Amino acid sequence: MKDYLLKALAYNNSVRIYAVSCKDALNFIGKRFGYYPSALAAVGRTMACGIMIGSMLKLEETVTVRVDGDGPIGSIVIDANAHGEVRAFSSNPYCHFEYHDLKKLNVAMTVGTNGFIRVIKDLKLKEPFSGSTPIISGELGEDFAYYFAVSEQVPSVVSLGVLVNEENVAIEAGGFIIQLLPNTSDEVISDLENLVTTLPSMTNLLSDGITLEGITKLIDPYSRILETMDVNYQCRCSKDRFARGLLTIGPSELHEIVEEGNGAHLTCEFCREEYQFTNDEIENIYKQSITKE
Ligand code: ZN
Repeated sequence: MKDYLLKALAYNNSVRIYAVSCKDALNFIGKRFGYYPSALAAVGRTMACGIMIGSMLKLEETVTVRVDGDGPIGSIVIDANAHGEVRAFSSNPYCHFEYHDLKKLNVAMTVGTNGFIRVIKDLKLKEPFSGSTPIISGELGEDFAYYFAVSEQVPSVVSLGVLVNEENVAIEAGGFIIQLLPNTSDEVISDLENLVTTLPSMTNLLSDGITLEGITKLIDPYSRILETMDVNYQCRCSKDRFARGLLTIGPSELHEIVEEGNGAHLTCEFCREEYQFTNDEIENIYKQSITKE
């Protein structure tokens, strides 16, 4: 099954459901960077949530979701948009922890339990919208639910899951978000509270082979799917963008690179695409940087 996302309405249009599967997008970076299992799970959970937050945006708006915990994975960064396009980065793909008694990936240990979740939305206004809340569990689902409740004042249930096989490949990855729309009746709120105590986690739903449509039916048999969209790993890096990036490091640094005479070899942190700049090209960028000053 190809990666996709769906949006649905439930409980008489008073609850919104987002659900996503993103195994292929996750494996794209998993293979390119050689991710270890629990690091892959941590990025995959953040990616699933990032894609769903992206799908809440309009047209040309974009979002960056950052998880900056004190665990060995360092920072996790997800860029997403309203069209199901996503890219992901982490500082250290090469860490792995399990809960020994449970044989389960230990995402909290990978991410850390101290730090912050940041959501930066470019809504094409003067200033980007930025919200931040502390990490409370490190397992990420709960942390994002806390973010929605506190930073966006939207009560939400967030469940994220990634299953990784012996070859360090994700066999399933995804998540769902249930959000209360304004003016939800107390009756619906109490129904949902009951549901949440019995609803299996995303990890369990995925391992039982339940589809996204099946998940929405579990949440509410009368739920109505509004929209589905494809999800794709999309990095918009280019040599031109890297050239503009080089320009920002300033004339003295650029001059040093020119003096060394080896050009520059740059690798995209999001997709591992490599860009080679000759010494002449660096010199041109250096000249531009002086005229800019
Ligand atoms: Zn790239």
